[in-house]
Amino acid sequence: MKTLDEQVGTVTADATAVSLRGLRKTFGDITAVDGIDLDLAEGEFFSMLGPSGSGKTTVLRMIAGFEVPTAGRILLGGVDVTDQAPYARDVNTVFQDYALFPHMSVLQNVEYGLRVKGVDRRSRRTRAVEALSTVRLEGYGDRRPSQLSGGQRQRVALARALVNRPKVLLLDEPLGALDLKLRREMQLELKALQRDVGITFVFVTHDQEEALTMSDRIAVFNGGRIEQLAVPAELYEHPASAFVAGFVGTSNLLEGEIAATILGTSGLFTVRPEKIQLQLRDAVAEPGLCTATGVVREVVYLGSATQCVVDLDAGGSLIVLQQNAQGSVQDKLELRGAQVRLTWHREHTVAIGGQP
Ligand code: ADP
Ligand code: MG
Repeated sequence: MKTLDEQVGTVTADATAVSLRGLRKTFGDITAVDGIDLDLAEGEFFSMLGPSGSGKTTVLRMIAGFEVPTAGRILLGGVDVTDQAPYARDVNTVFQDYALFPHMSVLQNVEYGLRVKGVDRRSRRTRAVEALSTVRLEGYGDRRPSQLSGGQRQRVALARALVNRPKVLLLDEPLGALDLKLRREMQLELKALQRDVGITFVFVTHDQEEALTMSDRIAVFNGGRIEQLAVPAELYEHPASAFVAGFVGTSNLLEGEIAATILGTSGLFTVRPEKIQLQLRDAVAEPGLCTATGVVREVVYLGSATQCVVDLDAGGSLIVLQQNAQGSVQDKLELRGAQVRLTWHREHTVAIGGQP
């Protein structure tokens, strides 16, 4: 059994689907991508996660060949394709705005790429029908895109990419236009589909929950660089920087004198909201735990859980998430203004970017 640390970054040479070496891209004065090194394994579901403008799309466009790198190399399956045209690369891209042809049927849309490549009519048909069935749209071939729901249109876009049987599928915020419920369904479907077809997925998103749900590994982008590369649990439990701690989940930072007062040591730390227990200050304290006292500033009911923002006596604030399965919701909602004690186990205090 490998540890999380060993899983990260260990990709054997012969199973590398995509390699990026010192990849850079500038547009005039703007540095969009500022030196990216990556090795993606064959069959991996890899996500690039980051805020808007952090360079994710530009990296994807360079892998696809739509954008020429200012510096660095791109390898697909070990072959340097940096100077190859987009159509010569064994990759396909799915965009957020599916860009289906409105005047063509669903089947014709899916066949289109094969027609351009000169694949004969019979094989085209067979493969398109097969691709539609992969995305659970068998029987929809004769419809026009306008006769489909948003989720179905997105599936057609996927089928259109899969029909080419690419080694690597690039997906740029493909679920961005869907409402939350459909988005969550499609996340699970897409993940299952990726497992079935075994194609390497490079998935771009600004949604941390989406990335955590779907990915084998995640690269967190910030200002054109990778801030952290890790498996989802590692990213969440051990963020390498304050940026990652805040972008992937609620940051709940303790630093400087506040950390010194509460933890007995200064530095930069984070405690995830669901690891913290909240009790009224006059309740009996359990010994041996990290403790911080404060006043509840805000209570937010979230359905399955209740979130409290607590202003700490030592300064700063912490967010606490309590599952509503335990205790009365009414009691929780009445906590605003209450004097409380927060406790958590020492191992849940995570030192950021360093040793615990
Ligand atoms: P993301 O996909 O993470 O939102 P992008 O890769 O689209 O980020 O953009 C990264 C940076 O590069 C941004 O500052 C963006 O404005 C800039 N950029 C992207 N494409 C172009 C372009 N064609 N011309 C000029 N600037 C660009
Ligand atoms: Mg983008």
